[in-house]
Amino acid sequence: MTTEVEISTPPLRLHNTLTRAKEVFRPQDPKKVRLYTCGPTVYDFAHIGNFRTYVFEDILRRTLGYFGYGVLHVMNITDVDDKTIRGAIAKSVSLDDYTEPYKNAFFEDVETLGLLPAHHYPAATEYISEMIEMIQTLIDKGVAYPGRDGSVYFAISKFPNYGCLSHLKLDELQSGASDRVSSDEYDKDNVSDFVLWKAYDDERDGQVFWESPWGKGRPGWHLECSVMAMQLLGDSLDIHCGGVDNIFPHHENEIAQSEACSGTKFSGLWMHSEHLVVDNKKMSKSLGNFYTLRNLLDKGFNGDQVRYLLMQTHYKTKLNFTLDGLEGAKVALQRLNDFLARMRGIEGDEATGKADQVVHAAAVDFAGALADDLNMSAALATIFDMVREINLLADQKAIGKPDAQAVIERMRRFNEVLAVLDIEGQSLDIPEDIQQALVERNEARANKNWAEADRLRDVIANAGFTIEDSSSGATLKRR
Ligand code: AMP
Ligand code: ZN
Repeated sequence: MTTEVEISTPPLRLHNTLTRAKEVFRPQDPKKVRLYTCGPTVYDFAHIGNFRTYVFEDILRRTLGYFGYGVLHVMNITDVDDKTIRGAIAKSVSLDDYTEPYKNAFFEDVETLGLLPAHHYPAATEYISEMIEMIQTLIDKGVAYPGRDGSVYFAISKFPNYGCLSHLKLDELQSGASDRVSSDEYDKDNVSDFVLWKAYDDERDGQVFWESPWGKGRPGWHLECSVMAMQLLGDSLDIHCGGVDNIFPHHENEIAQSEACSGTKFSGLWMHSEHLVVDNKKMSKSLGNFYTLRNLLDKGFNGDQVRYLLMQTHYKTKLNFTLDGLEGAKVALQRLNDFLARMRGIEGDEATGKADQVVHAAAVDFAGALADDLNMSAALATIFDMVREINLLADQKAIGKPDAQAVIERMRRFNEVLAVLDIEGQSLDIPEDIQQALVERNEARANKNWAEADRLRDVIANAGFTIEDSSSGATLKRR
């Protein structure tokens, strides 16, 4: 047959950090899934650990599309916090001038890694008045209080659900003026009332402050996300994502602020990706064990290869980064692209239909793997199974051009999620064995060994390349 058969997709099941269970995904409106993902703090270049989380979120978003959902995606840009202010002061520039180049670099990296752009990228500094309003509402509702230091704090004892995401028990927690924290980042050992509005400190904050009913200051990081999410997506989101380090305190605090303010559930589904690690330690700026995307491009890798590496392991499993691992990803991706090139080179007008069943089974298994909490390693394994079986058929000359086109079409559908395949053969990444075949073919011609030269030309053609001879030598072109 070889016509495209639409594959019906199974129910999508996703792991919810709130319940620690896989649940069938049920958005409020399937045509507009409201997705919020915590974005970068633009005080430096993002590292590929950050991008592991963003690639996971992109796979989620693309899978939603593959399963027929429409998505409205918001990712914030944190352009004011301790680190951005410190950087601006150290360089004696304004906060905007300091963050601008890192913002631009982030968007370039998003493109290089094939991430679908969010529909909105709100910057925290554009929502200060909305943040002040939300703090006032929380004070009016009796869950927040101004401290004598000019900061405003959230009283966790006034929110009985505090701890629902990180599964902390409230009676183990401290609450009250003596234990509160004003730092944006802290851990479970110092759970306490947290800051919503940070009073201005002239040594720490330089020129960075906004006026508020509680004096000069700036919003706390946790509050920023709650406000931007609710302004752009409403009081109730469908999915909120981040890396596992965001679960506590950041997302726990977002839930407390948002639900105390609106009285409704902030997000039905919370998804968190595990860390990219190096020798079992989280890749991070502070440990110095990081690579930026740019570092890897300088080493000769491309965005597709880095994306492949970051997405091939299930998002809830730690991924140990090594350059060898990246080499492995490069080879695996090349195999898929070589296969596509071979399919483009298949000749013969007759469809044999022999590939149909293999392609259909791969499509069913691919959707099944994604439906099982985005099991990308299983999804990729089904593609490699298909590649192996179709290659066998091609070796036996058992498929014609229409069959090969159906295979390519199916790969194109897979690529709506993977976003790394060279479907049209645009990239000039020429496999090493084909480069070698060209060298040997030129030698054969120089030795007037025409039979060998013709054989090698066929090898090259079967891999999807044509040879262009010119006075300056022979070059390869994608067919
Ligand atoms: P940050 O700029 O530190 O707020 O981090 C931005 C995003 O990257 C957050 O969702 C973090 O959870 C995530 N992240 C940071 N380090 C890593 C890592 N090593 N592996 C995976 N995700 C990370
Ligand atoms: Zn956030």
